[in-house]
This record gives sequence, C-alpha cells and structure tokens, in this order.
Amino acid sequence: MPWYMVILVSAGVAWLVLVVCLLVVMCSVTKNTGGFAPGWQLRCTRCGRTRDAGEAGLVRYKAASASKRTLGFCRGCRGFRWLAVERVPDEAEHHHGAQVQA
Ligand SMILES: [Zn+2]
Repeated sequence: MPWYMVILVSAGVAWLVLVVCLLVVMCSVTKNTGGFAPGWQLRCTRCGRTRDAGEAGLVRYKAASASKRTLGFCRGCRGFRWLAVERVPDEAEHHHGAQVQA
C-alpha cells in the first residue's frame, strides 16, 4: 500500500470514529431527554408566534424549567428574539378532535 493510501485510510477511519462518537453522544442525549420535546413550545415574546421545541432542535429544554428563555430566530417577525420555552396548552397537545374551549 502506498504511503498516501495509508494516510487516506487513516484519515477516513479517524473521521468515521468521530462520526460514530458523535452519534453515540446524540443518541444518549436523545434517550435522556425523551427525543423530541413533546408538549413544549417556543413562543416569540414580541409577536407571540409559537413553534414546536422539538422541531427547533431544543430537546434539552424538556428538562429545563418552564420559565426558561432562549434566543432564537422568529419567522413571524423575522429577527432574533427572546423565545419563551413553555408547555403547550392542552388543546394543542392532544389531537383527539374534541376541542377544549376555555
Ligand atoms: Zn416573533
């Protein structure tokens, strides 16, 4: 095997190990937090637009307190805003067809 092939293979293996390590870490984080964050949403403090916390990739916020805030991009008012991390109201959490009106 030529020397450059050895370097290429070594780099490839090192990269593969790095990716596998990353995947293992990601999996353990996902397991600890229950995957996506069902029942949690991010609410823009300026325009009130909400989006799913899991969709936003904020899985770790499930374990955080309900009054947590994070800086994020809001598509509603097109800018970086403070987003409140909070529980999704019951009627949005349960899709059983029966609407619960407050
Ligand atoms: Zn907004």
